[in-house]
Amino acid sequence: MRFAILSDIHANLEALETVLADVRQRECDRIVCLGDFVGYGPNPNECVERLVPLVAERSVAGNHDRAAVGQLEITSFNVYAQEAILWTQRALGPTVARYLSALPAEWSNTTSLAFLAVHGSPRDPIEEYVLDIRTARENFRHRAFSLCFIGHSHVPGLFVSTEEAVEAYPFPPAEEVRLHPASRYLINVGSVGQPRDGDPRAAYAVLDTDAAAVTLIRLEYPIEQTQEKMRREGLPATLVDRLSVGR
Ligand code: ZN
Repeated sequence: MRFAILSDIHANLEALETVLADVRQRECDRIVCLGDFVGYGPNPNECVERLVPLVAERSVAGNHDRAAVGQLEITSFNVYAQEAILWTQRALGPTVARYLSALPAEWSNTTSLAFLAVHGSPRDPIEEYVLDIRTARENFRHRAFSLCFIGHSHVPGLFVSTEEAVEAYPFPPAEEVRLHPASRYLINVGSVGQPRDGDPRAAYAVLDTDAAAVTLIRLEYPIEQTQEKMRREGLPATLVDRLSVGR
């Protein structure tokens, strides 16, 4: 079974369509979404409507999804994110808002290779960032899981827990990472619609459960089209510009 693991689409339809075409080409069997369907980008309704039939129940809420439907205070967001959330709240259609309101905080795959799917962290699925070894270690201690996929930081990366230590590794594109049965993994799949690791290409991961292997995929997409729409909608220039540099 091949899972395509997508996170942080952030209403970027051009990036999403590019990823979905690649998912089809790689003949993935299932799509999982780690949340932040909306926020920042110009096509929140289109992105949710496109993904709902594909992910079925295999999706979780991100902090922007919760904020967009009034389930999370936006005071913790920076000013640009706040402005984008207020725009998103006005733009959301009722059916899409209902879907986002009902998203669970986590989803577990129990067939073939078991894994947990959350937006932030296993300990705090909606809001915690796992950016360092200390936070990763606390999460490995907090609950039992062998494999957990996360997003939220928009930076791809691997945290691996063995009997000896917890270590952090880069997650370079197109290199298959073999999952060792005795190790535990926290894997950040990066962001489809707003990468922040200095690489502006859309990111997602493919999990092959038969091979017990994960691969990060990076894809160029027509960034200028997304930026043009953002400008037309009056979204903050800072958010428009960052797509070009992936920061
Ligand atoms: Zn996000």
